[in-house]
Amino acid sequence: MGNHLFDLVRSRMPAPDAPFALLDDGRRYSYADMVDVSARFANALVALGVQPGDRVAVQVEKSIEALMLYLGAVRAGAIFLPLNTAYTPAEIEYFLGDAQPAVFVCDPAKANALKPYADNAGAKLETLGVWRSPDVSAGSLSDKALAASTAFADIARGPDDLAAILYTSGTTGRSKGAMLSHDNLASNALALVDYWRFTRDDVLLHALPIFHTHGLFVATNCVLFSGASMILLPKFDPDQVFKHLPQATCMMGVPTFYVRLLQDARLTKDATKHMRLFVSGSAPLLAETHREWRERTGHAILERYGMTETNMNTSNPYEGERVAGTVGFPLPGVSARVVDPETGRGLAADEIGMIEVKGPNVFKGYWHNPEKTAAEFKPDGFFITGDLGKIDAAGYVHIVGRGKDLIITGGYNVYPKEVETEIDEMPGVIESAVIGCPHPDFGEGVTAVVVVKPGATLTAASIAQTLEQRLAKFKLPKQVFIVDDLPRNTMGKVQKNLLREQYKDIYSTKGKAGA
Ligand code: AMP
Repeated sequence: MGNHLFDLVRSRMPAPDAPFALLDDGRRYSYADMVDVSARFANALVALGVQPGDRVAVQVEKSIEALMLYLGAVRAGAIFLPLNTAYTPAEIEYFLGDAQPAVFVCDPAKANALKPYADNAGAKLETLGVWRSPDVSAGSLSDKALAASTAFADIARGPDDLAAILYTSGTTGRSKGAMLSHDNLASNALALVDYWRFTRDDVLLHALPIFHTHGLFVATNCVLFSGASMILLPKFDPDQVFKHLPQATCMMGVPTFYVRLLQDARLTKDATKHMRLFVSGSAPLLAETHREWRERTGHAILERYGMTETNMNTSNPYEGERVAGTVGFPLPGVSARVVDPETGRGLAADEIGMIEVKGPNVFKGYWHNPEKTAAEFKPDGFFITGDLGKIDAAGYVHIVGRGKDLIITGGYNVYPKEVETEIDEMPGVIESAVIGCPHPDFGEGVTAVVVVKPGATLTAASIAQTLEQRLAKFKLPKQVFIVDDLPRNTMGKVQKNLLREQYKDIYSTKGKAGA
């Protein structure tokens, strides 16, 4: 048995001197470098005592070396466990305690603060920073890798062995570790390369974080599995994007990237005419953004839908119509269905219910949490995504929001997306979030939080008035708030849990008195 994931990477590799990554500091990694440096990291991990199946937890800044550590961990038969760079020491304590990694790799600047937590969890602490020059150490693991051999016999791992654990973002309760096998990652990468027509000629502009499934697996694995190359940016920065865009053929982003680029005068048909593909995901792309992008650039953004637990599930077509406001069709090999969340009955086209998926992309369960795993899978193997949506008559999947965001007011179900869409279409509105807040009479009161364009004359009252002509009474917001912006996480998702917390008292006597 070989190493399932890395063998596939090798089998699809172009010539050794073909480019793999172009870095913002001018360095260039060839495919041969990728194999050599990932071998060095694999050797360094094995020398630290990492055994097959051990977790290697990592909280470091984005860098090519961090990607080499991912591949080195896979080649060493370990389980790569990336952690959001925004997590605080207290949060890291939870993840290390839960995952019990053999090694924890952190930024050199955080080593002192995090050492006690690594010690408590029985993990060896190593550091990895961003490479600046050959004369300056980029951390203890970087030094060990530099000193290690480029020869490494990949540790045998089968399709069902774990390659990674990614913790969910945990907006409801504690984050859970999603266990992803070699084949979960490989099968999804192969499906995406094919569906999105990746070839060795592609150059991906990579501006996403690499602690999340989007930047780590969708973006990086699409490059690796097609022998393409990437321009690896440390983070999303419009100046850097416009600087490197002429060399790229495709870009992947969260919706906020596209919104930000649309605000930039440098975004023109000319600047993007050589591009082959723009992909969006991780959060809903407003239909308005899709339309504006198409008008400005001539390109239809390809929106897809996935999650930490499932990799990518659906995608708009490469050829054929990319329908704004939808996430397209189930990927080849993936089955998707919409069921009544109460009874489990399958629903007809256009009926809204719980989206469930099944396929080689779907994870192996939650780490050390068999009860939660059992609760999220149906007996026939379908995973309950927690997303509400519908499949229309043409087969396109539409997402209307997370199940937990559904508002139940006076016994009626209100899907926030329906109200948000009405608000977003009003001239002068940038975006909106509709949430349910505790209400003494209705259980929950529909509440709209709206961002308007500078200089727009809209008021909370005028928005409420317009909605009255368009929506049934029970769907109407009982209060509308105009704000400067919506709270978002690093992946661009609106954090409705924070909004619900902020507005939780508005319908209580206490809240009314204060309002
Ligand atoms: P994460 O596990 O952080 O990747 O979050 C997964 C969740 O993001 C999904 O369950 C959806 O709620 C949401 N999501 C991902 N892609 C899309 C999309 N294209 N449109 C709407 N929601 C999306």
